Amino acid sequence: MIENERITVLGAGLSATFAVAAFYEHGYRNFLIVTDRVFPQFYGILIEHVPKMVERYLTPYPLEISFLGEESYEKYYLKRFKRIPQKFSRFTFRETQIYHPIHLQSLIMSLVKPKIIFTKIKFEDIEFYTQTSKYVIQTFPNPDQEREKFVFRAWTRIEPWKPDGKVYILHNTTDDSWYREIGNLGFKLREFVAEYEPTTEQLATEQWIKLKFLQPDIPSIDLQDSRQKNLLLVGRWARWNPNLFAETAYFEIKKFLEEEKTHEDR
Ligand SMILES: Cc1cc2nc3c(=O)[nH]c(=O)nc-3n(C[C@H](O)[C@H](O)[C@H](O)COP(=O)(O)OP(=O)(O)OC[C@H]3O[C@@H](n4cnc5c(N)ncnc54)[C@H](O)[C@@H]3O)c2cc1C
Repeated sequence: MIENERITVLGAGLSATFAVAAFYEHGYRNFLIVTDRVFPQFYGILIEHVPKMVERYLTPYPLEISFLGEESYEKYYLKRFKRIPQKFSRFTFRETQIYHPIHLQSLIMSLVKPKIIFTKIKFEDIEFYTQTSKYVIQTFPNPDQEREKFVFRAWTRIEPWKPDGKVYILHNTTDDSWYREIGNLGFKLREFVAEYEPTTEQLATEQWIKLKFLQPDIPSIDLQDSRQKNLLLVGRWARWNPNLFAETAYFEIKKFLEEEKTHEDR
């Protein structure tokens, strides 16, 4: 019986949420989530598509995406930040609608009711889960010294933002260090280029954190891990692919399960 077959999800971020929803929609009901963190960070995230199972319960809110200073952005910011403008170079203004990640995650978890274990998973533990589950979803990367060089951290300033969830801005000015600014979900993030260091005074008077990024053009990993047939890797960190959005996990797993079903039916 499909509903009794265990799906273990390693990590509890947005990729995990989207992956769980895909399995749920295919009839799976026995979920175990193993994670080391209760509250994922959702800075700046835009969700444009939600799983079918929650569509009718969630109301998207309108969003204007403005892209300012395109030419200089590309020339100075992205080169220094070692990132390529993929998603944003096609438009300077766009209206869309997005969903709130916290509402989405809590709703999916309340419908799915997974068993949750809080612990830090060691790489060696993963095989145990693959032996005791129908499928294991991994949402964080395996330790890999070679690939670590593709990870970098950049100082980011955070401040509360009034027009909550209404505007998303990529912005840069010529009178300050190059940065990308994103306003969404009640706060505004200003991500500076990798080498930017805030002053001691800025650190004392403002809220700063270092966010982790992946460089573009990293050799990425497939959905199915080569170590175990039933181990699926989702999300940009597990796959070392900065172009993967969290919602991709849902569509990839749906496709994978449909293909598996066709295979079994033959
Ligand atoms: C400014 C900004 C804007 C962004 N905009 C978007 C966007 O529009 N759309 C989008 O999809 N993404 C966006 N991202 C990227 C976004 O952060 C990721 O796509 C998303 O958060 C990744 O979710 P995840 O579940 O794959 O990984 P994470 O959120 O990192 O989740 C990994 C989970 O694994 C757990 N974990 C890790 N290691 C272990 C371990 N050893 N043992 C147990 N548990 C472990 C963590 O606690 C966490 O729960 C943006 C990022 C930034 C900084």
